[in-house]
Amino acid sequence: MATTINAFEMAQSQFDHVAELLNLDPQVSEILRWPLREFSFRIPVRMDDGTVRVFQGFRVQHNDARGPNKGGIRFHPAETIDTVRALATWMTWKCAVADIPLGGGKGGIIVDPATLSTSEKERLVRGWVQVMWRNIGPRQDVPAPDVGTTPQMMAWMMDEYSKLVGAYTPGTITGKPLGSGGSLGRTEATGYGVIYTVREAMKHLKMDPSKCTAAIQGFGNVSQYAAIGFIEILNGKVLCVSYYDRADKVSYTVSKAEGIDPHFLMTITDQYGSIDKTKAKAAGYTIEDGGEWIKKDVDVLIPAALEGQVNADTVKLIGPRVKIVAEGANGPTTPEADEVFKTKGIFVIPDFLCNAGGVTVSYFEGVQNDMNYYWTREEVLEKLDTKMTIAFKGVLDMSLNRKVFTRDAAYMVAIDRVVKAMQLRGWV
Ligand code: NAD
Repeated sequence: MATTINAFEMAQSQFDHVAELLNLDPQVSEILRWPLREFSFRIPVRMDDGTVRVFQGFRVQHNDARGPNKGGIRFHPAETIDTVRALATWMTWKCAVADIPLGGGKGGIIVDPATLSTSEKERLVRGWVQVMWRNIGPRQDVPAPDVGTTPQMMAWMMDEYSKLVGAYTPGTITGKPLGSGGSLGRTEATGYGVIYTVREAMKHLKMDPSKCTAAIQGFGNVSQYAAIGFIEILNGKVLCVSYYDRADKVSYTVSKAEGIDPHFLMTITDQYGSIDKTKAKAAGYTIEDGGEWIKKDVDVLIPAALEGQVNADTVKLIGPRVKIVAEGANGPTTPEADEVFKTKGIFVIPDFLCNAGGVTVSYFEGVQNDMNYYWTREEVLEKLDTKMTIAFKGVLDMSLNRKVFTRDAAYMVAIDRVVKAMQLRGWV
């Protein structure tokens, strides 16, 4: 959704609000309101036709008091230093709330990856590493894929870094393909992580998961595995998913009253999360307008597509049965919708807790790279479940003890942990 809000100003104002709740020392706030380090640089790349094109690259390291900075690299035509600053800041809070010993970072290149050939992409990501290699690494800053970047690109970047330092160093980057130092369980990590937090929320609210239904927005990486997890881990029923149809340039809701089968739908979904609606219809699914997902008579809503989807307009459409909103996407809920959730007593699992499964398994990938020993998928998912369950409990306890909204509680837990680390290290 197009927005005129400056993402970094938003990240700072969210921080300021919680800093006030925590009564933070202004000197401490001054450190946390801004990234500790920022890199802005130009990357000349030889294109396939022999010309040289110069790309603008960024890396922002927000705070590494709790461990090396961690965060993805985005390829996006609308990237700015402020989007990267905001995302780096949010990574600090996400790693802290999940209690993984990493800080916050983010990187980007202003580019539409669809305009580059495979070899141009390879030269561009290698160029990014050639600029940044002295300031990244397993003990400094560990990038990962994000919007517009892929596991293959991570393998090239790891290779470039390893050549520059003269030692095979897989832990310098995560999200690598299996066979190149990647971790089992990464594909399903974010979606399953969402479901582990939903399970804990249901325990708290004394809901029987096997009697519960969900409506999910999106059918990409997060939403596909959230759907599978809701059915296979919780024994619940998913009434619909939705997706953006790139051919029709509109979104659709794909539903079935007796419950969708995500495994089947995945066989008719492309790599961008677009479902073949003709085949879905032939298999007995109902195809409705993209906005219908939020109106379903369900217990749990899982917005797992885009930011700003649950807003002042759409929040009015939510059915009376909804008890939990699990934010699989980053920033799916606007402050106006939050106010409605507070009034109605709907339990919100805030994004940077709910979708922390991805970064948690990225951390596990780095741990396995360090050990040069790799866990089974079951071991990875079991450790993920433990981490997510403890993280959820930390936020719930804070929310109950301080009588604050869960989103504020998650911020309070995260900021408190980062401040403690800074104090212990003698920074403040
Ligand atoms: P993805 O690209 O794999 O899937 C996105 C899905 O959303 C697709 O099915 C797409 O068709 C659908 N979609 C897009 N616009 C829509 C609309 N207007 N209405 C309905 N559906 C729409 O993306 P993803 O990796 O699943 O990420 C989804 C969200 O989760 C993003 O906000 C992302 O930042 C966040 N997230 C992802 C991860 C991860 O590990 N993948 C981790 C943390 C957070």
